[in-house]
Amino acid sequence: MPAGDSMHEACGIVGIYAPGNEVARHAYFGLYALQHRGQESAGIAVSDGATIVCHREMGLISSIFDEDVLGRLSGYISVGHTRYSTTGSSIVVNAQPLLEHSDFGEVALAHNGNLTNTDDLREGLLAATVLQATSDSEVLAKAIVQAPGADMIARIRHVMSRAEGAYSIVMSTVKALYAFRDPWGVRPLCYGRFPGGGYMFASESCALATVGAEYIRELGPGEIVWIDADGLHVDTPPANKPQALCMFEYIYFARPDSMLSGKSIYMARLEMGRQLAREHPADADVVMAIPDSAIPGGIGFSQEAGLPYVEGLIKNRYIGRTFISPDQRMRARGVQLKFNPIRELLENKRVIVVDDSIVRGTTTPRIVKLLRDAGAREVHVRITSPPIIHPCYLGVDMATHEELIAANFTIDEIREKIGADSLGFLSKEGLLSAVARKRGEMCLGCLTGEYPETYSGPPMYEMATR
Ligand code: SF4
Repeated sequence: MPAGDSMHEACGIVGIYAPGNEVARHAYFGLYALQHRGQESAGIAVSDGATIVCHREMGLISSIFDEDVLGRLSGYISVGHTRYSTTGSSIVVNAQPLLEHSDFGEVALAHNGNLTNTDDLREGLLAATVLQATSDSEVLAKAIVQAPGADMIARIRHVMSRAEGAYSIVMSTVKALYAFRDPWGVRPLCYGRFPGGGYMFASESCALATVGAEYIRELGPGEIVWIDADGLHVDTPPANKPQALCMFEYIYFARPDSMLSGKSIYMARLEMGRQLAREHPADADVVMAIPDSAIPGGIGFSQEAGLPYVEGLIKNRYIGRTFISPDQRMRARGVQLKFNPIRELLENKRVIVVDDSIVRGTTTPRIVKLLRDAGAREVHVRITSPPIIHPCYLGVDMATHEELIAANFTIDEIREKIGADSLGFLSKEGLLSAVARKRGEMCLGCLTGEYPETYSGPPMYEMATR
């Protein structure tokens, strides 16, 4: 997905329980592997069995933590978070992990997702509470520590029965670590084991691999897994609801070296490209992709089409997080801040360019122009997702209905607007077959308008982007 037309995920989380280990350092490198899921703020909380110490700031992992900070986070249980804000402002008070006091002592919580009934929860569970932060995560954290129940599992279940929306959570008390997913399993969460002892939870398996934890499995929807001095425990959900994992984890969010439901993200994207080539072939000379997330799809397309794959655009990987605005002339040059074409690969060629989605359609025309200016004779755009025709309300900062180009124009009108010679989107059936999942196992809300049964508000198209 090109810069400027992106959708943003809402956080990466890790949780580690490993007596005798430097868990803050493991959390740091685990979060580093999840930096793509959120770049606004980050934090790590560590318990030494008696107290929890937390450090959180605005910025990237690399700018927040150094040896001094990590040295002050001493203990054997850690919870870490890297944030992209969906609800709540981008201010440090909303950075996570959040710290709460409970009758079990201090609690640190990190949340990935988005609640859709925050106000109900606030009114129903938190009548006497003053909320400092503005995020749905704080409401969730306070709801859990104040819920009725003799133990933490009963309290989590109580809140789970009332919370609507998407939430994958890692949470620690001073002596135990808890991890759970919402009953629909919208956001991913997996766990693994360190060869020398101890466990780690993470949004994606790439974080486990980064610190040497061996992947065990994903948590099931509504499942609670916790670890204390007696070992690992599992509490399975009381009722079986259909799963609704976010399809865009496969298409765009997750790192290609992660596994999701036992399937390699890289291989899934490769297959999306192959399927797209079967559905929308084109007479062309070369295939290329928009770096980085569309590259496996581009390679898959070229394999299926029997055409050479070329790196027609090179991405400047360090420009993504600049706070310095370009001047007007630079802005007019648009995507060239992020991508440079290789003229020698494109000149006088009929080019198929593969991308993973078109959201607002603001950047694709600039990409097409960039390729034409670099000498491409024809530009055929192929997209490894179906058209996005509805907003997301489950934690993905995407666009409003009015902003979504595919909600307002036909495929041919979009082709004309982006200036392409042809345009093709992967079908929903093709996408499901590429990820080897059934319709009832996935959330396809932004592609179909049918959302998981985790929401009871107004129709999605009436909602503003979160
Ligand atoms: S609506 Fe779209 S982006 Fe949002 S959770 Fe569902 S599939 Fe993912």
